[in-house]
Amino acid sequence: MSIMYKSTRSNSEKVTASQAILKGLADDGGLFVPDSIPALSVPLEALAGMSYQETAYEVMKLFLSDFTEDELKACIRGAYDDKFDTKEIAPLVKKDGAYYLELFHGKTIAFKDMALSILPYLMTTSAKKNGVENEIVILTATSGDTGKAALAGFADVPGTSIIVFYPKNGVSPIQEKQMLTQKGENTNVVGIIGNFDDAQTGVKNMFHSRELAERMNAKGYQFSSANSINIGRLVPQIVYYVYAYGQLLRQGEISCDEKINVVVPTGNFGNILAAYYAKNMGLPIETLYCASNENKVLFDFFQTGKYDRKREFILTSSPSMDILISSNLERLIYRITGEDADQTKAFMDALSSDGEYQITEEMKEKLAGFVGGYASEAETAANIKKVYEKADYIMDTHTSVASHVYYYKAKETGRKTVIASTASPYKFTRSVMDAIDKDKYDSMSDFELVDELNKLSGVKIPAAIEEIRTAPIVHDIVCDKSEMQATVEKILGL
Ligand SMILES: *Cc1c(COP(=O)(O)O)cnc(C)c1O
Repeated sequence: MSIMYKSTRSNSEKVTASQAILKGLADDGGLFVPDSIPALSVPLEALAGMSYQETAYEVMKLFLSDFTEDELKACIRGAYDDKFDTKEIAPLVKKDGAYYLELFHGKTIAFKDMALSILPYLMTTSAKKNGVENEIVILTATSGDTGKAALAGFADVPGTSIIVFYPKNGVSPIQEKQMLTQKGENTNVVGIIGNFDDAQTGVKNMFHSRELAERMNAKGYQFSSANSINIGRLVPQIVYYVYAYGQLLRQGEISCDEKINVVVPTGNFGNILAAYYAKNMGLPIETLYCASNENKVLFDFFQTGKYDRKREFILTSSPSMDILISSNLERLIYRITGEDADQTKAFMDALSSDGEYQITEEMKEKLAGFVGGYASEAETAANIKKVYEKADYIMDTHTSVASHVYYYKAKETGRKTVIASTASPYKFTRSVMDAIDKDKYDSMSDFELVDELNKLSGVKIPAAIEEIRTAPIVHDIVCDKSEMQATVEKILGL
């Protein structure tokens, strides 16, 4: 069966997977969604014997149906190789009765690598398939981790260049240094005076501008997106949930068809949406726990059916989840309206004009498979310390938000639960070490803390951290949130 993609906001446009990857966002500002969600075509018991790469092929071929077998296998081979520091790619680790799906073994030690390692391959293959001759300019807003993972993925990829916007005062020191030291002739990094939502809105506005698109085209450029609004990000993320189920079977932890829970630390709703798609493909998932930090818009949404972004933006120790406008929720809204593009558009218009929308009771019933939870800053820190002391396992702050939600909501169900572990503790060393013993570690520098974390955890310091100890800063552009487009024009010489 051939899957086509349509917009969440109108019924006019239908495109192939490769066209959707190239465009990033639909012309009407909507997000591309598959016209149906395909069912897994391998029996569940077979998953136990499949490698990550084999699982990736089985899942992705169903969604990217205009890619040939050779094309897709080449993309998978190029992406999931020894860039990852473990051959499992995404190991599943059991600690204190829960299963941590470690998604941080790629180049930039956050889960964004899972999709951004393959996106450049999918993008350049899509360009070739569609006879695109323009240079593809990847325009991306980041709350910290997407930026570095996208830069690393696209650096020096022929036919592409990349511009990343991040909130100047809204990322961790290690996240910032990772981006500012990025090599590659075609990479650009811009700090903005504003928060992540400002960066994301600025990027979306540039995507929407016909006038800008025409000027770009005249100079031989076109935009695409590496944000999780791109289905080329979403589809590879489905893979690791299917793989995790296979690992549970292989390790004899579950019987075939046994239902599991999944807890996902959530910001832009991309990762958990991938788990929802996996469930819709037939993966036996009972409940999806959406874990938020103190920016708990999504928790409130699942409680009340009202999405309300009109609140203070809080900077937390899990900055990659400091988001009030979760873009990918639009794809879920579309599903629960019964794929009603007009209604979805009306909600999204209300969100941008009034800052809120309220879904109907009927729609809310369709959210029964989701449970919202959240962790305060104190709870996030206390959970890191608790699991370290109990199970000798040190997790990062984002994972800890999910782990906290596991302990107070998912554990009591008695079901086996997979916790998406989205970053290495080395990426958020200060917050992690402060959680364990603030008095002892407070006065140390970031890199001293890296060495302390190494002593405490016994986990090898990742190459991503060793590299930035001495790497020179090569990017220094900062602009106001109102000057994002002007900055892009200057970089591209428009
Ligand atoms: C991006 C990110 C998240 C949030 O994922 P979404 O797909 O945006 O919901 C959580 N944790 C880490 C470490 C991240 O980088």
